[in-house]
Amino acid sequence: MKVSDKVQVLRGVGDVFADKLRAMGIDTLSDLLDYFPREYNDYSQIDPIDSVEPGMVTIEATISDVKGRYVRRGLHITEASAHDKTGSLRVVWFNQPYRAKSIQPGQAYYLSGDFQLRRQRFSLQNPIIEQVSDTTVHTARIVPVYRESRGITSVQIRKLIDQCQSLIKTSLETLPQSVLQATALSPRAEALQQIHFPDSSKQLQEARHRFGFEEVFQLTLASLLNKYELMQDTAVSVPFESSVAQSIVQNLPFDLTEDQRKSAWRIYQDMQKTQPMNRLLEGDVGSGKTVVAAMATAMAIKHGFQVALMAPTEILARQHEVTMRSLLAPLGMDKQIGLLTGSLSTKQKKQLHQQITDNQLHCIIGTHALISDAVTMHNLGLVIVDEQHRFGVEQRHKLQKTVGYMPHVLHMTATPIPRSLALTLYGELDISVLAQKPAGRKPVETTIHSPNSRAQLYTEVEQGLREGRQLFVVCPLIEDSEMLKAQSATEVYKRLKQKDLKSWRIGLLHGKLSQEQKTAVMQEFLEHKLDVLVSTTVIEVGVDVPNATMMIIESADRFGLAQIHQLRGRVGRSEQQSYCYLVLSDSKRPSRRIRAVADMSDGFRLAELDLELRGPGAIYGTYQHGALDLRVASLTDTELIASARNAAQDFIDSGQDLLQYEHLYSRVQSLRSVTNLQ
Ligand code: ADP
Ligand code: MG
Repeated sequence: MKVSDKVQVLRGVGDVFADKLRAMGIDTLSDLLDYFPREYNDYSQIDPIDSVEPGMVTIEATISDVKGRYVRRGLHITEASAHDKTGSLRVVWFNQPYRAKSIQPGQAYYLSGDFQLRRQRFSLQNPIIEQVSDTTVHTARIVPVYRESRGITSVQIRKLIDQCQSLIKTSLETLPQSVLQATALSPRAEALQQIHFPDSSKQLQEARHRFGFEEVFQLTLASLLNKYELMQDTAVSVPFESSVAQSIVQNLPFDLTEDQRKSAWRIYQDMQKTQPMNRLLEGDVGSGKTVVAAMATAMAIKHGFQVALMAPTEILARQHEVTMRSLLAPLGMDKQIGLLTGSLSTKQKKQLHQQITDNQLHCIIGTHALISDAVTMHNLGLVIVDEQHRFGVEQRHKLQKTVGYMPHVLHMTATPIPRSLALTLYGELDISVLAQKPAGRKPVETTIHSPNSRAQLYTEVEQGLREGRQLFVVCPLIEDSEMLKAQSATEVYKRLKQKDLKSWRIGLLHGKLSQEQKTAVMQEFLEHKLDVLVSTTVIEVGVDVPNATMMIIESADRFGLAQIHQLRGRVGRSEQQSYCYLVLSDSKRPSRRIRAVADMSDGFRLAELDLELRGPGAIYGTYQHGALDLRVASLTDTELIASARNAAQDFIDSGQDLLQYEHLYSRVQSLRSVTNLQ
């Protein structure tokens, strides 16, 4: 057996099974060994029967009086009695009619399961059972639990990995020797053994530590290499001219926050350099990133450069156009802004391109489709990427090819990324944070509601509607689904229109509408031709309707904390008090997560809590991207992160050739091409 072999070499794996495994990302034995447990059940302690207590237990016993019967249609029960020297207890399996046959009287077994009271009798329920030996797989040890999917169970995966024992023992080291020596980490073979077959919780911790270190080490190497490569590129220097910045700031109806001032200053400094800027401007919703972007834009235009601003949706692109025009008007630059969207006709597009070529337009705002049109921007000095998470190395290179040099890049995001995560994942970016809220903003008052109390809720929002305010109603689904018990936008829209809010003007917005339909609905809401907008999360980012001060989030428990916080950021954009009503999908007690989002208005703290409760994959969708799958590293383990980052820096400084480490090299290459903002 070799690690590069396909999973079919294993006993019991046919083509159908192999297809299912492939769908989970497991194609070769190497993939299988890299499929780490999601969690562990500690069945290592074996209790004498007379001292077992309710809960998860493991016993060593012989089994007698095994009887199976159907209690009623669809419910089969196997009952048995288990004994050891100290006593006996009752064992029950539900719907496992094969059990009776597989148990041999007189044979010693380990049984691990839940010992609990049921119909006034204590019994061991649905225990896992395995013959006593030194090399048990499913019981009498710390048992790994693997993530299940597509008809593949954790037990099946455990059995497959068990067949790879010899491979594990001979698996090759993947960290450079210099790193291993400097850090006292477990060698890979040992760590792999312990991650799948832990001998003790201490050894398991050591194994997890080693793999966590390796993940952060690789990620840091990738981002450092990207950063160094970027530093080799040349950009155009955009000189700083204080009068340009002044004209914008002096014409604002408000003062800049200290953070806005600082960020703008850093950006101006970056843009003066002949090395390309690669900065992330991170600021909670409503923190005022657009003004900062406008300040950067004005400076570039003033010195004869073009600017491209990319937004994730057409609605946002339109909104940016309006905002930028008004911000740049004092400099007379409002006429130099063009909007390039998918809904333009070929003729209109041609005309726009001509204006760019003729140097009449200096700032082009559009959706990401814009990037392929950047070809005509011969003089592009600055690219601003708003809430668009797919702008990485590849996109930059594409630009460099067409423009001839590397433009400065400013990324903007409202996703609060905890510092530990930002350093690890986005190490190649310089980061500026807008932590302060503009003055006069009141936190959005957030309350939790049971679905039974909707009537009362509608009475309350109608009061707001009568005062001339507007309401968002956000739902997790577009249409009703049999699978999920959650409110759908279409159904809620119908209900509100026919019944609950029937005297108000209601619109519906979701991702299945065409671009024109979406834009039209949004426009109506903006112009207050609609009082209520029922929508899916398409309104999540950026939309600015200051008069909308109320938001109902249906089935709020279906959303992540960071996501609810983002959604809630659509209200609270004026000096009016705003309200967010979280309606649960059932009348159970609200979870700790939901209570946290109602109590806290700090997006960073919520993101940290979400990270703690659900892990990075769940929040940042990194799991789907595979390459950025932080399976082991705990992002709250600052010591681990610091030492792995230092090791990566040392490795680069030592001048060793990465090519000599085949595995590390290919891993780092794939991480490098993963976009720097997920
Ligand atoms: P975001 O960071 O979410 O993109 P925006 O740039 O859209 O935020 O700003 C949100 C609103 O706050 C806008 O209406 C903007 O004019 C306003 N704003 C920006 N900066 C300030 C400030 N320093 N003081 C008061 N209001 C501000
Ligand atoms: Mg914005």
